[in-house]
Amino acid sequence: MNIILLGPPGAGKGTQAKGLQLRHGIAQISTGDMLRAEVAAGTEIGLRAKGIMDAGGLVPDAVIVAMLEHRIQAPDCSQGFILDGFPRTVPQAEALDEMLEAGGSAIDAVIELRVNDAVLIERIAGRFSCANCGASYNDAFHLPKAADTCDVCGAHAFIRRPDDKREVVSARLAAYNHQTAPLLPYYAGRNRLHVVDGLADIGDVAATIEATLQTLPLRTPTHALTQT
Ligand code: ADP
Ligand code: ADP
Ligand code: ZN
Repeated sequence: MNIILLGPPGAGKGTQAKGLQLRHGIAQISTGDMLRAEVAAGTEIGLRAKGIMDAGGLVPDAVIVAMLEHRIQAPDCSQGFILDGFPRTVPQAEALDEMLEAGGSAIDAVIELRVNDAVLIERIAGRFSCANCGASYNDAFHLPKAADTCDVCGAHAFIRRPDDKREVVSARLAAYNHQTAPLLPYYAGRNRLHVVDGLADIGDVAATIEATLQTLPLRTPTHALTQT
């Protein structure tokens, strides 16, 4: 099963993607996390991306598409993947469709997490994440169950993103509205788009996503096509 989670910064994509990964055992791919790892490692991609990310802009399509194409060939993606933060532009979506089609595969569902700007700003201001596994928490909405201990992996160190500063958030929201929102009609026109209320509690959003996935037609697995 190949799923895209779509929504503005702070919509809950990372939170829901991690839940889907745990429940379905399919790979979670966050291009934001991948880029942050490149920045931390000081690679060429990281050096190019850092200034753009700090300013709240989008990294060039060619860089992101090459990174993603490589990532989905990894063995952990053989049963499918959840994309969180990709695609973010129509050219990225077109490139994704092409690479999947070439491998006899396709996107099964695009889940739009629908929220509003006031909530996003509040969520982003309170966001922090586990330094070890990346699980996302929130000062106001989602604290770890035991103080200073990650629910998922038990680590005790947490980080805040430099681009979660208020000044950068408005640039990120503008990038979403101008460059990413056109993906909604793109996927609606291909009968892939499912809208989920992202303002509900985390558990209720997860339940609605699961109910949506239950309604999907079963796609013939790729291996069945090659067995004769
Ligand atoms: P958010 O949690 O706000 O949705 P991400 O962690 O997905 O943000 O991305 C952080 C930053 O990384 C973005 O603001 C952008 O600069 C860059 N980035 C991540 N994914 C992409 C992409 N698919 N295309 C271009 N830039 C990206
Ligand atoms: P995205 O990946 O879309 O940028 P995150 O999953 O990181 O978003 O969520 C942004 C912040 O909002 C995090 O601090 C997270 O804990 C919190 N959050 C996520 N989903 C909800 C929700 N349904 N209700 C309240 N807070 C949420
Ligand atoms: Zn953790």
